[in-house]
Amino acid sequence: MASFPRAILIDLDDTLLDDSSNVDACWDDACASVAPRLPGVGVDRLRAEIDKLTSWYWSDPKRHRMGRLDLRAVRRHILELVFAELGIDDNGLARDLAETYRELREERAHLFPGAADALDRLRAEGVRLGMMTNGAATTQRMKIERFGLAPYFDHIVIEGEFGVGKPDRRVFDTLLSALDVTPGDAWAIGDHLEFDVLAPMQLGLHGIWVDPRNAGLDGHRDRPDRIVSAFTEIVSSSA
Ligand SMILES: [Mg+2]
Repeated sequence: MASFPRAILIDLDDTLLDDSSNVDACWDDACASVAPRLPGVGVDRLRAEIDKLTSWYWSDPKRHRMGRLDLRAVRRHILELVFAELGIDDNGLARDLAETYRELREERAHLFPGAADALDRLRAEGVRLGMMTNGAATTQRMKIERFGLAPYFDHIVIEGEFGVGKPDRRVFDTLLSALDVTPGDAWAIGDHLEFDVLAPMQLGLHGIWVDPRNAGLDGHRDRPDRIVSAFTEIVSSSA
């Protein structure tokens, strides 16, 4: 027998949309495409510097908060630092690399298999759905449009439109009130343990963490109510 809550808050990137499992491949291919123009620097070294400076950039919560609202500018900035580190003085090359990477990422983004069917099923069961997604308004809207996701959702909160993002409680409060449910009537599901799961759990929602690569909790003190390997599992295992 089905056992769904009255409402579910769902993250977009890497929960419904496979947006970043291809990050490494996209950088590999983008770097390979500019390899003939690299003066005395191998692709491997370029890749290593990109990884190093990308990790450094996103490791800081403040940079994360600002940067996720303008990924294009962040990539340009990271590549400038990479090129400075490697002694390459070629702004055109940095720009082409950033654009090629962006195009590849866009091209390769796709809904996880079964995600649309799972959303259909939840709608058919009468579950109210809210989307909670961080990032820039235009970028996130474009993804929602491209994959036809808006009709599934009763309410959508995009950080760039709303003014604040997860884990700020206003995101969850706004969604719960738009869906007209109490926290005890709702699940929250997403791949970001802190933002999508633990933060709404503090308000009383049932938190489900999507852990596609079986990364595990790795020393985390707080535990989600449930761990799944894919969003679709909440439908298949509730049937
Ligand atoms: Mg996500």
